[in-house]
Amino acid sequence: MTKDQMFTRRRLLLGGAALLGAAGVAGTTALLTGEGSPGPARGAATAAGPGARPAFKPSSYRLQPIAGYGAPPLRRRTLVPATVRSRPYLRVDGRGRTMVLTFDDGPDPRYTPDILRILRKHDVRAMFFVCGEMVDRHRNLLREMADDGHAVGNHTWSHPLLTSLSRSRIHAEMSRTSEIIEKAHGEPPLWFRAPYGAWNRATFEFGAELGMEPLAWTVDTLDWRAPAAATIADRVEKGAAPGVVVLSHDAGGDRTQSVRALREYLPELLDSGYRITVPQRRYA
Ligand SMILES: [Zn+2]
Repeated sequence: MTKDQMFTRRRLLLGGAALLGAAGVAGTTALLTGEGSPGPARGAATAAGPGARPAFKPSSYRLQPIAGYGAPPLRRRTLVPATVRSRPYLRVDGRGRTMVLTFDDGPDPRYTPDILRILRKHDVRAMFFVCGEMVDRHRNLLREMADDGHAVGNHTWSHPLLTSLSRSRIHAEMSRTSEIIEKAHGEPPLWFRAPYGAWNRATFEFGAELGMEPLAWTVDTLDWRAPAAATIADRVEKGAAPGVVVLSHDAGGDRTQSVRALREYLPELLDSGYRITVPQRRYA
């Protein structure tokens, strides 16, 4: 597929999503709710529509005819601001048998391209919690994620144990990463995940300040211990259930087994009727 075809495909995907949004079709996205998630999001599924990205940037409105001619301009939807929480979301709304696959610590040119290829082959959107210093070295991979419609989350700049850092260093780790993601991916991250799952009040406060909601996981594949691919696939398949968020890695060591496992479990999940998607924030 050429770059141009890819671009066209992306426009089609975005256009299709926008149409679905306009028609008010429910259940096309994974909204956050359910056990283990903070209270305020419980009503999310009914309150929010499908969270497709806006099809147009505000600057393109200037190209619209002034009132009286042509179709009315599309109204850009407003994201409900992130709130300071006391614990992260552990799962998403499982309606429509949705599940979320997340890949942490990348991007890594040794493994991320293979993961992107597998996801593309199955026409599946996933989530990448990236580290700023990795993005800095491999910006092209963030562009590829954007082209394929994947969600990118903030996983700090250098993957430290945040709970051992001062507030100002925590802030720097998080804000620098949001900035570079916005530059490389085209949109600022809407989600944050603390390395090692080590959250504290500062991480929730700065996350909300930077416009991000905290997302942890439901099923840990423990792939960082480099078990056999079959073991990783087994953990995903045994843990599969509506609303489950799966944690695995596309960087941070030898991830050959993680890639091989994805090739096994992704078609299995799809054959079992799961819809693999990315979490959506609520819109006003
Ligand atoms: Zn990590």
